Amino acid sequence: MSKKEIVMSGIRPTGFLHLGNYFGAIRNYVRMQDDFECYFMVADLHSLTTHPDTKELKANVHRVLAENIACGLDPEKAALYCQSHVYETSELYLYLNMLAYKGELEKTTTFKDKVRLQPENVNAGLLTYPVLQTADIVLHRARYVPVGKDQEQHLEMARNFVNRFNHRYGDVFPEPIAFNYNDELVKVPSLDGSGKMSKSENQLATLYLADDDELIRKKVMKAKTDSGPIEPNSTKPDYIENIFALMKLVSSPDTIKKFEDDYNNCVIRYGDMKKQLAEDMVMFITPVREKTNSILQDEVYLKKVMDLGAEKARASAKATMQLVREAMGFNY
Ligand code: ADP
Repeated sequence: MSKKEIVMSGIRPTGFLHLGNYFGAIRNYVRMQDDFECYFMVADLHSLTTHPDTKELKANVHRVLAENIACGLDPEKAALYCQSHVYETSELYLYLNMLAYKGELEKTTTFKDKVRLQPENVNAGLLTYPVLQTADIVLHRARYVPVGKDQEQHLEMARNFVNRFNHRYGDVFPEPIAFNYNDELVKVPSLDGSGKMSKSENQLATLYLADDDELIRKKVMKAKTDSGPIEPNSTKPDYIENIFALMKLVSSPDTIKKFEDDYNNCVIRYGDMKKQLAEDMVMFITPVREKTNSILQDEVYLKKVMDLGAEKARASAKATMQLVREAMGFNY
């Protein structure tokens, strides 16, 4: 049997997971776990770039693990682990930092966004975030990285760092590429018609996997609409396009077709559309929320999951680091 291709991805434990995390990342994790050798990590070190206070860290790590498992991730199949449990990451991060330039790091979109959001804490970790992310990926010599569209630029940077390393020290790493089962990477829009759903920005415009039914309904009903199209078959404004995009994630093809037709015939009732969307979201989120809550009760189980994951991830990391040290000439 040929060796399975290697897959790696991570989610930061900086708050409750939302639909963007699910459709951009976790859904692919679950589909990939049977066919690939998978490493999925809770990126707790990355969270220090924006959340230096660690009081909530343990609870957040538990939540990310529980939510991933509730979504269908099987810790027996994939390696599900915490970044900080794999010490080799820090060593590789140091080596790769020597191949990353200040200019290119400063130009990264996510860095510029974070500088705007937290001008009082523009730390060096924030600047070198794409380097740490590259270390996470190539530590397992992973080829595929299931991520949402917001991560495209980071993956491009990862390929640059990998190529520089391979060119200078010899071929150790494959070039990692962003992965999605469909052609396009996913971007789940926020409910206020601007930007993407995100863990910490505009929480009323983001649907979390932990939201209760009433809160889901309330958030969906507040989504921005207008009085409807006047001309048949007209182009949809962004905020309306977003509601259709969300519907496509959770509603049946018949439902979507009905509202598309209504829109094109100028008879659409956005109130009805949002009610339908809210009910479909409730149907989708409720089982995940309930399963997460029951997993969170069992700390012994969560500890076992982390230990098993760390064991698998460290075995893979150890093998890679041997190759890295040899290639770099640390063999005296
Ligand atoms: P956040 O941006 O909410 O802090 P992370 O940075 O931890 O989330 O990202 C975890 C994963 O979720 C990444 O693969 C990212 O691409 C994906 N993701 C986050 N938000 C969205 C979104 N709105 N649409 C699609 N994918 C997303």
